[in-house]
Amino acid sequence: MNLFRKPLTFLFIGMTFLSCNKKDVAFSDPLITNRDTTVNPADDFFNYANNGWFKKNPIPKTDSNNGIMRIVMDTINGQIKSICENAAKDESVAKGSNKQKIGDFYASGMDTLAIEKAGLSPLNTEIKKISEIKDVQGLVTTIAHLQTIGADPAFTFYVSQDDKISTKYALFLGQGGLGMKQRDYYLDSDKRTVEIRSAYLSHLKTMMQFMGEEQSVAAKNAQTVMKFETELAKASRKLEDLRDPVKNYNKLTVDQFNAITPDIDWKKVLPVLGIAKADSVIVGQPEFFKALNTTIKKYTIEDWKTYLKWNLVSAYAPYLTAAIEKEDFKFYSTTMNGVTTQKPRWKRVVGQTNESLGELIGQVYVADYMPKGVKEKLQEIGNNIRDVFASHIKKLDWMSEPTKQKALYKLSKMVMKLGYPDKWKDMSQLAIDRKSYCENVMKGNIWEYNDMIHKYGKPVDRNEWVMHPQTYNAYYNPSNNEIVIPACNIIVPGYEGRMPDDAILYGILGGSFFGHEITHGFDDQGSQYDEKGNLNNWWTAEDLKKFKAKTQLIVDQYNKYSILGKQVNGDATQGENIADLGGVIMGYEAFEKTEQFKKKEKINGLTPEQRYFLAYAYSWMVNRRDESKINQIMTDVHAPEQFRVNGPLSNIPEFHKAFNVKKGDKMYQPDSLRVVIW
Ligand SMILES: [Zn+2]
Repeated sequence: MNLFRKPLTFLFIGMTFLSCNKKDVAFSDPLITNRDTTVNPADDFFNYANNGWFKKNPIPKTDSNNGIMRIVMDTINGQIKSICENAAKDESVAKGSNKQKIGDFYASGMDTLAIEKAGLSPLNTEIKKISEIKDVQGLVTTIAHLQTIGADPAFTFYVSQDDKISTKYALFLGQGGLGMKQRDYYLDSDKRTVEIRSAYLSHLKTMMQFMGEEQSVAAKNAQTVMKFETELAKASRKLEDLRDPVKNYNKLTVDQFNAITPDIDWKKVLPVLGIAKADSVIVGQPEFFKALNTTIKKYTIEDWKTYLKWNLVSAYAPYLTAAIEKEDFKFYSTTMNGVTTQKPRWKRVVGQTNESLGELIGQVYVADYMPKGVKEKLQEIGNNIRDVFASHIKKLDWMSEPTKQKALYKLSKMVMKLGYPDKWKDMSQLAIDRKSYCENVMKGNIWEYNDMIHKYGKPVDRNEWVMHPQTYNAYYNPSNNEIVIPACNIIVPGYEGRMPDDAILYGILGGSFFGHEITHGFDDQGSQYDEKGNLNNWWTAEDLKKFKAKTQLIVDQYNKYSILGKQVNGDATQGENIADLGGVIMGYEAFEKTEQFKKKEKINGLTPEQRYFLAYAYSWMVNRRDESKINQIMTDVHAPEQFRVNGPLSNIPEFHKAFNVKKGDKMYQPDSLRVVIW
């Protein structure tokens, strides 16, 4: 999806908004207890603010990280578990009801006896289809079919709003098909990546054996898949080269697309994908499809079958026998992210039930777990941040009046979807029973695919949500010029049952959340879309030049950061870094307008300013395993959390003042390098 996402932000749960008493300080204040006072805040604010908590809370063996995100997720998962268990044991539920679907899905996932007994059989029909491929046409049709059932061989395909005509849905085709997901894992030559590649090869071999191959054939098949995916990786664009929405938008007629891939007739492929008729397609990376066509001729049909079977079984490995699931875990979690122990089964199944039936679970979640007034509180903070952003734009010294007017207009039209959707999706066509976990997951995938494909040719539904109220995340969608903040993000650990002070509200919700997402509308990508969500330049040439010079400064700043010998990718992470910087500044200015700030009242010995910046750091209190940090640098457009705190704050004079940061300290940026964009 062409959305811009960030993986956290929060507030609190179980509180009533009326029980606010800011003078009550007789509680364990996370801003005090999370700190590590042996660290100098002027050198490393992230660890000063959070390392006290990290020291007391080692990363569990079942997790790649520990911190605020895991605490909140544990709370939400516990609630979803209750929803699932209550539904599963209710024998009076009506067939076809939401409760029946949730209960049966969960029960099928917990029925390990049935799962063991079934072995690979839930995939038999699909494996047979692959085995029966005879020629290139059959191959291409089968690749397309697999896309519709939750596998993702060879390329990616989706329906979404046309970036240049946001009132219409379009067909998008892009690079994909990689088991290790990111091209660099196939191509980099550093020691760790080479080791991961070798582990991947043995993972492939073991999986081939589970699929019934003799050891020698399994080893050969593993090599085939590796060669195959390496070729696709070579033809894939780098993470940073996927950022430019113009370069990754190539609208072609179907005939033009066919000319790029002479061995793939898209007129025959599109109907298999569920599209009866299309005039055009938007191809993200035409050169990738050219290379894909080459691999079709270069490899035998038998080699292709091996790759397709692997892709299918790998997609469904977490829902098959314990041996297959463990092997999948060993590579994707242990090797790639350093996690040595699987989460308990109920957590894995709760996670998948929520993934497949999130829209149904969300309805119960909102009714049973959301305190009254969440939408209103979110709206109040959101409005305050938007007002600050507007006054900020008016004061910018580098932007001309005409561009300012356009920016203000875009901001005024930005939609805020908060809490949960007004209308839930209709999942009545999805049938779930207790027979097969794997088949239930596949049915869920097919339902989701059909839901997407059926949009094509219909008017755009601007009320749609792509996250659930229980999703601990938020997003800006440039095609709708909207920010979406699900209800559960209101949770702030440590403030259960009490109203956090405004420094917390504005540091976390205001800064990391609203400020961050609103700024995405004006980052290196979002700034190219107009108020209606169309890719349409609204900048004067001169202002655009100045903006690009400023974004280059932030690219340079983050390129200087590294962890464990891996340099942060300043280009790939620039959108998130621009959003973080804008977020902290907007949150702070909104906080300045509160009584707490104006009174200069200290809480637990901390000034309002200090509390604000500590709260911002708390919103990114995440401690990762080394493996997870490296994985994040290679695959994620978000910089590691320590830089999401230290990066923006080092540019902010109010922060320097609050923590006495001086020239020469690590958290100090000289004027010549200081970045201020919004
Ligand atoms: Zn973001």
